Amino acid sequence: MIVMKFGGTSLEDAAAMANACEIIKSRIKRHPVVVLSAAAGITNALIRCAELAAEGKRLEAEAVLRDRIIDRHYRIIADLIKGLGEQDMLIRQFKIYDEEIRSLIYGISITGDLSPRVLDFVMSYGERMSSAILTEALREYKLRAELLDSRKCIITGSGFGKAEPLFDATREACDAVVRPRVEKGVVPILQGFVGANEHGVTTTLGRGGSDYSAAIIGTVMHAEDIEIWTDVDGMLTADPKIVPGALRIKEMSFQEASELAYFGAKVLHPSTVLPAVEKNIPVHILNSRRPQLSGTLIKSQVASANIAVKSISYKRGISILNISSTRMLGSYGFMKKIFDVFNDHQTAVDLVTTSEVSISLSIEHSPDLDSLVAILKEYGDITVLRNRAIICIVGERLRDERGIAARVFSRLRDVPLDMISHGASEINLTCVIDEDRVPEAVMELHDEFFSNISEPGIFE
Ligand code: ADP
Ligand code: ASP
Ligand code: MG
Repeated sequence: MIVMKFGGTSLEDAAAMANACEIIKSRIKRHPVVVLSAAAGITNALIRCAELAAEGKRLEAEAVLRDRIIDRHYRIIADLIKGLGEQDMLIRQFKIYDEEIRSLIYGISITGDLSPRVLDFVMSYGERMSSAILTEALREYKLRAELLDSRKCIITGSGFGKAEPLFDATREACDAVVRPRVEKGVVPILQGFVGANEHGVTTTLGRGGSDYSAAIIGTVMHAEDIEIWTDVDGMLTADPKIVPGALRIKEMSFQEASELAYFGAKVLHPSTVLPAVEKNIPVHILNSRRPQLSGTLIKSQVASANIAVKSISYKRGISILNISSTRMLGSYGFMKKIFDVFNDHQTAVDLVTTSEVSISLSIEHSPDLDSLVAILKEYGDITVLRNRAIICIVGERLRDERGIAARVFSRLRDVPLDMISHGASEINLTCVIDEDRVPEAVMELHDEFFSNISEPGIFE
C-alpha cells in the first residue's frame, strides 16, 4: 500500500485533475490511498469569505464565494466529468456546499465572531470539494474510487487551526475505515489538512497540512511509500521562485528534509517527516507535471557524498526579541523563567543566542506578540526587531566540513546579520536578516555553494 498526496496546483483545474487521475491509475497495482489538498487558491478564498463576513461585509463575502469558489468548481465539473448523470449529482452536491457556506457567512456576519473553530469548519470545504470531484473523475477512469470523510479517519486534539493528531485513535479509525477498502481493491480518497477531534468537531492541521495528513495516514497504515505530488521537480537546492536555476536533490536524509521544511521550504509541511521517520517510510517528492522524473527521495540513510551544503531555505515573518537584564549576571533559573513565558503563550522559539546579560530569541510573528512582550518586560529591557527572515543552509556533512561559515559570511558581507546560530552537531547554519534582503541573500548563497557542483550524482 502507498499513500499519494496531491497538492493544490496539481488539482487546480480540469486538466490538472485529469493528470492526477492518470498518475493514480499508473500506481494502481500498489494499492494507493489518495490524500488531496483543496484546489490552488481555494483555502485562501474561503478564509477571505470568513474574514469579510466577520467584518460585516456579507455581500462581498458571498461574491467571493460565488466567483472564486463555487463557479470555479462548476467549471472543473463541466470540463472534467463526462457522464451527465454524474455531473448533475456533483452539481446538486455543490449547491448544498454553497448553501452551507452561505449560512456560515450569515452566522459569522451577524455575530461578528470568527473563532478558530468556525474557521476550521469553513476551510474544510476546500478539501471536501476537490475530493468529491476527483472521486467521480477516477470512476470515469474505471477505478473503484470511494470518497471517505477524513473527519472519521484523522483524529486530533482540539487545537483548532493547528491541531495535532492523536495517533492511537487515528490508527484505530484508519484500521476500521480505510484498511478494509484497500483490502477490497478500492481506492480510498481522503481530504488532506482536515480532521476532527474526539467529539467529531472539524479541525485542521495548519496551513500546508495535507502533506502532514499523508504522512500520518502512511504511518498508521504502515505504507511502503509516501508520495507527495506537487508543482516542482522535488526538493531543490533553493526555492525556484527565487533561484530559477535551482537543482533537484535526488536523495536526502529525514533530518535534512526536516530542517529545510522547518526553516521554510514550503514544498513540505514541517511535521511531515516526523511520523515517517518513526516507521522508516520513504517519502518521495514528485512533480505532477513531469511524472516521469524520479523526484527527491527522503529516507533514513543517504549515501555519503562529498558535498557539505544540500539546500538553502528561508522563512519570512520572523521577529527577534532581545531581553537584557543585569539580573542574569551569575544567576541561574533566569532562562527557565523566560522560557516558561513562551511555553505559556504556546510560542515556539526557533533560535536562541545568549551572552552574560542578554538573550536573543527568534519567533514566528504572531498577533500575540505584544502581550508576550508586555509580560517579558518584567524580566528586563526588551527590544523587538520585526519583519525579519531566517536563512538556513542545510547538509548532513556541514558538521564535518571546515570553512563553511567563512564562505557564508563572506558572501553575506553586505547583508546585516541580526542573529547567527550553529551548534556543534548541527546540520544547519542559520542566520536572521531583514525580510527585504531574502532574495539577495538566497541568490548569493546559492551561487556560492552550487555554481560549481562537482557531484552530479546528488543533484540534477
Ligand atoms: P502544494 O500545493 O503541492 O502543496 P506548495 O506550494 O505547498 O505545493 O509547495 C511547492 C512550492 O514550494 C514550490 O512551488 C516552491 O516555490 C516552494 N519551495 C520553497 N522551497 C523549495 C525547495 N527548496 N524546493 C522545492 N520547492 C520549494
Ligand atoms: N489547503 C490547505 C492550505 O492551503 C492545505 C494544503 O494545501 O496542504 O493550506
Ligand atoms: Mg503544500
